[in-house]
Amino acid sequence: MIPAQFDYVAPATLEEALLQLTRNPDEAKLLAGGHSLIPAMKLRLAQPQMLIDIGRIKDLAYIREEDGQILIGAMTTHQQIESSDLLKKVCPLLPECASHIGDVQVRNKGTIGGSLAHADPAADWPAAIIALGARMAAISVKGERFIKADDFFTNMFSTALTPGEILREIRIGIAKTATGYAYAKMHHPASGFAVVGVAVSLTRNAQGACESASIGVTGVAANAYRPVAAQEALLGTNLDESSISAAAARVCEGIEANSDLFASEDYRRHLAEVYARRAITAAASRVK
Ligand code: FAD
Repeated sequence: MIPAQFDYVAPATLEEALLQLTRNPDEAKLLAGGHSLIPAMKLRLAQPQMLIDIGRIKDLAYIREEDGQILIGAMTTHQQIESSDLLKKVCPLLPECASHIGDVQVRNKGTIGGSLAHADPAADWPAAIIALGARMAAISVKGERFIKADDFFTNMFSTALTPGEILREIRIGIAKTATGYAYAKMHHPASGFAVVGVAVSLTRNAQGACESASIGVTGVAANAYRPVAAQEALLGTNLDESSISAAAARVCEGIEANSDLFASEDYRRHLAEVYARRAITAAASRVK
């Protein structure tokens, strides 16, 4: 449980961090909250020769509203999101999701940017980020680009970030109409990570029928995904028990489900359906 030797730098600015990363593309790793990277280094699953600590850079931890969007800095901790009054008002899915992550210590140190970049298949944020249709700002010495949440998670522990890029910010459009949100998760009894996690954002028309549905699923497959068939099955329904059940039954359509010592593929598919039903039911009851 002792990491291999490494160098450590703590740049004061984003520009400095980008330069360090560009100079050492294969050897260096960014250090955010350290709650995924340090355990991996102790187990020698990761052996970076250099850690670039981005925790000293000012202006990477913030939550603010700008031009109808919520902007969240990559170094914002899970706890800062969980306790944000602004988010509770305009995007309550994020504080709800944060409250499910690990324990108080993990939430105090772990960051949304670190979690998204790490892309653990059982992490909570990816489900919420997909359901909210977020965009990720990735910066490198060449400039900045935006990656849609749907395109961000490419495989187990893999993202669309390229070597030399830092995830700088997460952008989420603020809903213009009454929206219901919910996150339902089955916690792994030992690790607390998501065996299955389903995030839902939906709207209803004046008659109460489902006008839009956006869903993100984590824990089930190699990477978080959008269950398109389940979303489409909800559209136009009055979100009663049978239409929600019919949609939830399609949450794993076209997906290869994970299987491990705790949950077989069949059990995971079953859990995904149950938790999709719960999350959709809760979101439907919360539209306001
Ligand atoms: P780090 O560990 O510092 O970094 C993780 C990886 O991302 C590294 O490869 C690093 O180089 C890279 N990275 C970090 N920041 C950036 C950036 N801005 N741009 C590009 N790359 C970057 N997570 C859950 O979702 N749900 C849980 O229930 C849960 N339970 C946990 C329980 C325990 C006991 C522990 C230790 C962790 C748990 N976690 C859980 C993980 C936790 O949320 C981590 O904080 C998170 O996954 C990683 O964030 P970090 O800031 O600690 O990143």
